Amino acid sequence: MSSSRYPWPGVIEYYSDFLPVSDATPRVTLLEGNTPLIPSVSIGPSLPGKLELWFKYEGVNPTGSFKDRGMTMAISKAAEAGAKATMCASTGNTSAAAAAYSTRAGMLSIVLIPAGYVALGKLAQALSYGARTIQVDGNFDDCLRLVREITDKYPVVLVNSLNPYRMDGQKTAAFEVCDALGEAPAYHALPVGNAGNITAYWWGYKDYQERGITERTPRMLGFQAAGAAPLVSGEPVSKPETVATAIRIGNPARWQDAMKAVKESDGILRAVTDEEILAVYQELAAKEGIFCEPASAASVAGVMKVAAEGFFGEESATVVCTLTGHGLKDPDRAVSLAQEPEEAPAETKAIVEMLGF
Ligand SMILES: *Cc1c(COP(=O)(O)O)cnc(C)c1O
Repeated sequence: MSSSRYPWPGVIEYYSDFLPVSDATPRVTLLEGNTPLIPSVSIGPSLPGKLELWFKYEGVNPTGSFKDRGMTMAISKAAEAGAKATMCASTGNTSAAAAAYSTRAGMLSIVLIPAGYVALGKLAQALSYGARTIQVDGNFDDCLRLVREITDKYPVVLVNSLNPYRMDGQKTAAFEVCDALGEAPAYHALPVGNAGNITAYWWGYKDYQERGITERTPRMLGFQAAGAAPLVSGEPVSKPETVATAIRIGNPARWQDAMKAVKESDGILRAVTDEEILAVYQELAAKEGIFCEPASAASVAGVMKVAAEGFFGEESATVVCTLTGHGLKDPDRAVSLAQEPEEAPAETKAIVEMLGF
């Protein structure tokens, strides 16, 4: 590690020894990373067995999701190569990160999003950061196909997770978990959409073990939404549907890599229903004080589901769940599920009476 953790220099500078960068690589950074690993106070203690549950809360990255880790690398390498424009397909968070980091590097950002299926906060971000934002009459998989065709032919850098530098940057989350715990956890659970993140974590954990920093690697637990679970069924889903829009993907770009990560790590891939996802999404906010977006809750919903089935047995083990994005990304969903606020006149007496004091 090339510099101290304080003041935090961003993931490229801090983990430069582990990343394909040199002194000639510009650091296009918003000081992403160094996110908290938060112990669970409610869900963990309620699980059967003796599990120690932690949340890696990626919602506090500069654009509100883990996508910043990969994007700082992708855009820095694009800047090093002299690129002028970037392009991505996105369910929302990739476009927010691509737009922010491209703007910072003085590049044009072009984003293709599936019309009607991007959460409001994410759309607001892409537009505000100044991306050329194009809503496509199709789903994420259609958008990605178009981006691949266009970036093949024109001088625009593809910054979807097919971009290898995105994967390098995203490995840093696994490094941080190991740095915080002093060892790799026994299990690491993630929501799986395009399957880049589960792959990157696995690669990161293996890097740390190969360098002798950690002794073990975790078993990787991947959870997809039941209506968009191609890795679970083994077949692409042509019309993926789920409230967890960040993982509404029917044909993951990192399919083979993710399957390999799960196999090598002796992990599992399972589906959780929208009902399960939303129940845990609400519970995380109301019982843990952590507001994440619906897709993020899939990791915790999955752990709760397999724990109830006896997957962990009586083992005392550390389980880390990545909470991939911030709850404010999808305010419509939050408000539609929550109770309406109560109403009162501007009088102390009325409010005190309401509260039953
Ligand atoms: C991108 C994203 C995911 C899915 O990650 P993949 O690498 O596509 O599997 C999950 N949650 C959130 C909030 C995301 O932005």
